[in-house]
Amino acid sequence: CTAGSSCFPNADELASFNSSVGEQLFKSSPYGSVCYEGSFEAAACSNLVANKGIAGFRETLPLAMMFVNNEFDSEGNGCLIPDTVPSEPLTEACALGGLPSYYVNATTPEDISSSVKFAAKYNLRLRVKNTGHDYTGRSTDHGAFTIRTSNFRGLELIDDFIPNGCPKSVHRTSVLAGGAGVVARDIYNVSAGLGIITTGGYSSSVGVNGGFVQGGGAAGPWQPLFGMGADNVLQYDVVLTDGTITVANDCVNSDLFWAMRGGGGVFAIATKVYLEAHAAFQAVNVVA
Ligand SMILES: Cc1cc2nc3c(=O)[nH]c(=O)nc-3n(C[C@H](O)[C@H](O)[C@H](O)COP(=O)(O)OP(=O)(O)OC[C@H]3O[C@@H](n4cnc5c(N)ncnc54)[C@H](O)[C@@H]3O)c2cc1C
Repeated sequence: CTAGSSCFPNADELASFNSSVGEQLFKSSPYGSVCYEGSFEAAACSNLVANKGIAGFRETLPLAMMFVNNEFDSEGNGCLIPDTVPSEPLTEACALGGLPSYYVNATTPEDISSSVKFAAKYNLRLRVKNTGHDYTGRSTDHGAFTIRTSNFRGLELIDDFIPNGCPKSVHRTSVLAGGAGVVARDIYNVSAGLGIITTGGYSSSVGVNGGFVQGGGAAGPWQPLFGMGADNVLQYDVVLTDGTITVANDCVNSDLFWAMRGGGGVFAIATKVYLEAHAAFQAVNVVA
């Protein structure tokens, strides 16, 4: 069910849901509209044109994907950002295209739980978006109701971690736990200060605790030493598709845990990821 259909929740139902997620439900508009007639803002358009190719900037746009082709729908509708700043507002069509109709800026597992239940109740086209790095655009869709996970940040080092529900014999001496919105540069910056190494990608903007580990986590500097990203996950805090808040590890929801380490998603929504940490060491990297 997508916005505009009779099955879509009405204004009162949307308002009631919005209050349950701390007023963090937003109706989408194409972010490129600041370059187009009707919504033209010269300074904002100029900023967009100048920075549209920078991953760190795209991350700040709630709906932007890293590859703009994913922002267009199957009919080719979308909102193209020009390569140069237009002197006059553009008059071509600027539509949501492949972007969602509504999104939730989730900040707690409870927000995600409420959102999943709301989406199920109205059969909404649910998508989960972190950084928008997905090559095939699975974190966006035309008419979707999207849960954003990129607010789940923060990293903490845990000594003697025992996954929930596991015997004490299953423990690790050093674990880096972080929110599902943590990206590679967060991990590298914090790890350097803590004298540890854990998994990550070559690209500093990739969502390590989002799609990266769930898709396997293939390409990064430490994979030859410590295995793929998914091999380093000891536990996920998750919200299940029925809205239940729980964990997935080798002892609890072990099938789900297996699927979330390379299955590509989205079997559940991760809110926190526990990564095995390794002691840092001196190394020389030689690039031929
Ligand atoms: C420019 C670029 C550079 C890249 N560099 C590397 C690299 O160096 N090494 C490497 O191995 N890979 C790299 N990748 C691939 C990248 O790791 C994957 O695309 C990964 O899935 C991105 O995850 P994300 O959360 O950042 O992106 P998103 O597009 O936000 O999410 C990707 C997928 O994961 C799902 N997802 C996200 N968060 C959650 C969550 N919390 N719970 C459940 N599902 C979730 C989304 O629904 C979507 O299906 C790169 C991709 C790009 C575009």
